[in-house]
Amino acid sequence: MQVIRSINEMQSTSISNRSKGQLIGLVPTMGALHEGHASLIDTAKEKSDITIVSIFVNPTQFAPSEDFQQYPRELEHDLALCEKHGVDIVFAPSEEDIYPKSYSTFVEENVVSKGLCGISRPNHFRGVTTICAKLFNIVRPDVAVFGQKDAQQCAVIRKMIDDLQMPIELAISPTIREEDGLAKSSRNQYLTPEQRKDAGLIFKALSEGKSLADNGVQSVDRIIAEVTHTLGTSRRLRIIYASIVDKMMMQPVKEVKSGECLIAVACWLDQVRLIDNIEL
Ligand code: AMP
Repeated sequence: MQVIRSINEMQSTSISNRSKGQLIGLVPTMGALHEGHASLIDTAKEKSDITIVSIFVNPTQFAPSEDFQQYPRELEHDLALCEKHGVDIVFAPSEEDIYPKSYSTFVEENVVSKGLCGISRPNHFRGVTTICAKLFNIVRPDVAVFGQKDAQQCAVIRKMIDDLQMPIELAISPTIREEDGLAKSSRNQYLTPEQRKDAGLIFKALSEGKSLADNGVQSVDRIIAEVTHTLGTSRRLRIIYASIVDKMMMQPVKEVKSGECLIAVACWLDQVRLIDNIEL
């Protein structure tokens, strides 16, 4: 497994591999890798000849009040996980190379990114689209793999690829969960054992909402009432949003249509922000 830190070296390696007709798969991450990331890597390996994992804690997607400084950085652990899963190249650029002092160009999607997390994190998706556009230009992937866990991120990236005619296939991997259903996340390590217990309520609430929809309930209000009721059973949980939106544009729907929408939830568990979703 090769570890590349230089942008030029990454770009020239990819150009040379592409000229040999090899398909390149990219898994963009912020590191602190877990089984969720590993399943994205496995998907990338199935779909490409050369699998590249990028590891970069992207400052432009964090607001000043957020956890950029505390975000876990565990390169040795991450490299071992990548090696174990047969990654060919880890691309781990420095912040100064990605965003030199003179940096001034941003990519912004203006519809899909505005609701849900876009309300409480107004510049978050602008940071995400900017770093992904940069990574796509550096790594030149044929396929980029993202996780359904971040459903709005997937929809925003799909729209950017489409709007900017990027010649990239977007592959979406299912959410990998803990035994009690909590979506695996690098941020779960912030949770104390008591908080960790309450975090299981998020998937419980989503599953209850889904089971209503599966039983023919089409009323958005009825399903959201169920979800918020279950989340409300913990005094540590504060709901940021609980919405039913269409999968492609992330806009609120009036009525549940099976196969077309999802329940998306974000909440504070004390000081830890967690998100999750379930397809209906
Ligand atoms: P992150 O490192 O948290 O920015 O995530 C990098 C990629 O891994 C994103 O596409 C996430 O959606 C995906 N991911 C994170 N957690 C999970 C999970 N539990 N299951 C599947 N994919 C995940």
